[in-house]
Amino acid sequence: MAEDFDVIVVGSGISGGWAAKEFCEKGFKTLVIERGRHVEHGEDYIGENKDPWEMKFRDRVDRKLADQRYPRQKRCYAFKDSTKHFFNDDVDYPYSVPEGRNFEWIRGHHLGGRSLLWHRQSYRWSDMDFSSNARDGYGTDWPVRYKDMAPWYDYVEEFVGISGTMEGMDQLPDGKFLPPIGFNCAEEEFAKRIEKAFDDRRLIPGRCAHLTEPTEVHMELGRGTCQSRNQCQRGCSLGAYFSSQSATLPAADRTGNMTIATDSIVHSIIYDDETKRASGVRVVDANTMEGRTYSAKVIFLCASTLGTAQVLLNSTSEHFQNGFANSSDAVGRYLMDHLAFTGATGELHGFQDHYYIGRKPNSIYLPRFTNLERDEEDFLRGYAYQGGSSRLGWSSRLSDKGFGADFKESFKTPGVWEIGLEGYGEMLPMADNRVTLHKTKVDKWGMPQLHIDAKFGENDKKIRKAMREEAVKIMQAAGLKNITTYNTEDSLGLSIHEMGTARMGNDPREAVVNGYNQCHDVENVFITDGAAMASSACQNPSLTYMAFTARAADYAAKQMKIGKL
Ligand SMILES: Cc1cc2nc3c(=O)[nH]c(=O)nc-3n(C[C@H](O)[C@H](O)[C@H](O)COP(=O)(O)OP(=O)(O)OC[C@H]3O[C@@H](n4cnc5c(N)ncnc54)[C@H](O)[C@@H]3O)c2cc1C
Ligand code: SF4
Repeated sequence: MAEDFDVIVVGSGISGGWAAKEFCEKGFKTLVIERGRHVEHGEDYIGENKDPWEMKFRDRVDRKLADQRYPRQKRCYAFKDSTKHFFNDDVDYPYSVPEGRNFEWIRGHHLGGRSLLWHRQSYRWSDMDFSSNARDGYGTDWPVRYKDMAPWYDYVEEFVGISGTMEGMDQLPDGKFLPPIGFNCAEEEFAKRIEKAFDDRRLIPGRCAHLTEPTEVHMELGRGTCQSRNQCQRGCSLGAYFSSQSATLPAADRTGNMTIATDSIVHSIIYDDETKRASGVRVVDANTMEGRTYSAKVIFLCASTLGTAQVLLNSTSEHFQNGFANSSDAVGRYLMDHLAFTGATGELHGFQDHYYIGRKPNSIYLPRFTNLERDEEDFLRGYAYQGGSSRLGWSSRLSDKGFGADFKESFKTPGVWEIGLEGYGEMLPMADNRVTLHKTKVDKWGMPQLHIDAKFGENDKKIRKAMREEAVKIMQAAGLKNITTYNTEDSLGLSIHEMGTARMGNDPREAVVNGYNQCHDVENVFITDGAAMASSACQNPSLTYMAFTARAADYAAKQMKIGKL
């Protein structure tokens, strides 16, 4: 039986939470459809506050279980005993890749999606990023520029609560920041030495979605000050980091306009040939396998880059034989992820009398410094670094040889400071990096599985090499010792910044959505998650999904109010 709503939001993660909040606050009856289970804020954070000794393997996941059920998810650094219930079981959620290629799809299907798991690093994109496709011709031009997005970044940042420092850098615009989670002593020294050695490079504290000084907006949702426990990915019942559960869903809920349907898998969008609009969605109940439909005036797809692609490709009809709103044939194409898992580590000697105060839940950031004004490198676009520092512990000395009381005692003393810089590079949008539906394989709910076919291109490989080499140069110039590099080639997907598959652009012949995230082919369907991204920049993308979602909801709401939608 069909139920009627003003708006259907598919997915309850970072993007879906924002769509729900915006529409509910504007007075629209909104249905949020989430394929995973309900997760109650606080109550269901079952790993929170557990000490290592309360867990059988000291927060490591039982190896057999990890190998058998989570062969892909276990490659994510945040996959632990205390967090594993927020990751998908790979056996139940299969997908395929071509022989000899790989893509790690790291996900959590439950209320809140990956907003519970994210590392909270939040950076604005700059005008250079929104102009990049036009500048070098790779990818279709963005219909928006920084000036269009700036007010929406302001808007979402004030609600989210982003801590950071004002730096005045064109390539990384400043925002509406709460006080920063600053450097420790090693990072402070490293930053000074970098500034002395380079005119074009600066180390800054990461900008992260933590409440260092909550405002009224945060406190009225019951959110509190961050306590630097650094256990965020277990869930934070203080609501001190931004998630759907801590912020957007409660804001939507208090309006009385939100209905949430969990355990409800959106199978496809229903297209009405007469009106040339979507009339609703078909849903499969995850527990009973029964089908039902919901209808609404407007649909917001926020199921994540690959989840949205799956729904679009599965929504075929006489009119859209190769996928919903896909007259451009761009649905599924131009898949990107950030180039990462390569960089360097080095030791900063001294400061042996300093240790930690609290457990800092933030990174350090070295903003992009290549190809700013013009393309000067042997590659297009650029990269930034993220990293951190810590004092080496006893486990770094596992191969040391010795015996006796003094030897044992020496293991109780923390080692030298180690600093890491990991590159985050921009991957070019390439048409052949794409997802399709597998021709025969379906999952246990009858949804065709995704087939993900993507690889690094030549430009991507050059950036990876440069990120490694420059990290060494920076560390050498800063006087670090014992510098080593690392490089995980088989890392596509592991940055967990999948983008593309339903890209934005002015020309309906080559893009799926317009500058307001509205499908060119079907005016009442909007795509506001990473699928709509026309390029990847090198900054973490989720803040930009939030800004696009809020902006698109504002546009759609105005169109609905004047009867155009
Ligand atoms: C460990 C980790 C660290 C990260 N760190 C950062 C960071 O520091 N900064 C940053 O910017 N990003 C980070 N990310 C990425 C960030 O989490 C994602 O970019 C963001 O969550 C994407 O938001 P979304 O709403 O598009 O998707 P999600 O948050 O994944 O939510 C999508 C939701 O849709 C649901 N869904 C999917 N398909 C269907 C369907 N057919 N029917 C109904 N529901 C469906 C899913 O179950 C899910 O709940 C990190 C991710 C992880 C896992
Ligand atoms: S570090 Fe802050 S946000 Fe993270 S779990 Fe602790 S209090 Fe919560």
